Amino acid sequence: MTALNLREIYRDLHAHPELSYAETRTAGIVARILTDLGYDVTTNVGRTGVVGVLSRGEGPRILLRADMDALPVKERTGLPYASTARGTDPDGADVPVMHACGHDVHAACLLGALEELARRSWSGTVVAVFQPAEELGTGALEMIDDNFFGRFGVPDVVLGQHVGPFPAGTLAVRGGPAFAATDALSVVFHGRGGHGSRPETTIDPVVMAAYAVTRLQAIVSREVAGTDTAVVTVGSIVAGTKDNIIPDTAELKINIRSYASDVRARILESVERVIRAEALASGALREPDVTLFGQFPVVVNTPEAAERTRAAFVEVLGEQRVFDPGLVTGSEDVGAFATASGAPLCYWLLGGADPEQYLAAEREGELATAIPSNHSPFFAPVEEPTLDTGVTALVTAALTWLG
Ligand SMILES: [Zn+2]
Ligand SMILES: [Zn+2]
Repeated sequence: MTALNLREIYRDLHAHPELSYAETRTAGIVARILTDLGYDVTTNVGRTGVVGVLSRGEGPRILLRADMDALPVKERTGLPYASTARGTDPDGADVPVMHACGHDVHAACLLGALEELARRSWSGTVVAVFQPAEELGTGALEMIDDNFFGRFGVPDVVLGQHVGPFPAGTLAVRGGPAFAATDALSVVFHGRGGHGSRPETTIDPVVMAAYAVTRLQAIVSREVAGTDTAVVTVGSIVAGTKDNIIPDTAELKINIRSYASDVRARILESVERVIRAEALASGALREPDVTLFGQFPVVVNTPEAAERTRAAFVEVLGEQRVFDPGLVTGSEDVGAFATASGAPLCYWLLGGADPEQYLAAEREGELATAIPSNHSPFFAPVEEPTLDTGVTALVTAALTWLG
């Protein structure tokens, strides 16, 4: 067995990102390496997912999960291994593709960890999951629906990590609710189109949409308790083609983040109320269409599992390099593997920012602007110590749970 050149693998994955459910090149690379390492490999699990299993007799069965998909973002990092790839999005459009969420880091680190685990001694079973389509929130469920637990067994714990914009070399773990639930809504307001010079003959959906956008801002500020955390973002507003035409319809796309089911229910109700009220206020002849088109459940780390894993991290990395990130408003579908199997979950964050750059930005009070976050065209985790720490974290967590 040859030692993996992790940096080379990472650069290759970074330079060749693939959109959700199109991760075929990535899956091929993963499958080949896993086979070389001696894992039993199954491909096309949940469309493009890959599972590698290494069994060593009696003992716990642990699930280590990485995701593989990239985003429709044009990379602007200027890195020598920056992506120039393009792909086809779900609407059939040709789009630039970038590993703007760092799933290339996750896949590379898991490969590195699996290499090391193959060398170490332990008992039990390692089930390594390379998941497709995390960005759509459907990849984990797609694998589970493909008889995942029937084929690869019910795990005793689900472990994984996500890279983020804080100092490389550090890890962040939190027990309890950790990553937010997401609800994605599409709203179509129906007006009555006409000439821009004769508003009296029309019902203007642009005005409806505009009022709704501002009114929606009052939900978090006026209806959610100061002690609860939630986000309501209108990320897309589409209406009309020309200055002198009042269109028939206007569409909003709304993204909602929450941690508690009662808060989530209240926000969804409020959004619906505001949307309907604005249509009514404008004299719309037809009710707006409200469609839920995407969802992530909240990620809840099992407190005992998080504590056991955190303690192992501290033992290996030291107290200074392991912290509690607080509630993260990002969302993840990793929790589906735990919820569907009843297994405990520990999902942690891996620092990816240049530590010196991070400290300088912190000193200047410019953390929010100077350190690019996930999904930014400038998101560029430093290779080291990010990869090394990511491998160490996965190996440490795995060995803590294996016999
Ligand atoms: Zn993402
Ligand atoms: Zn991600």
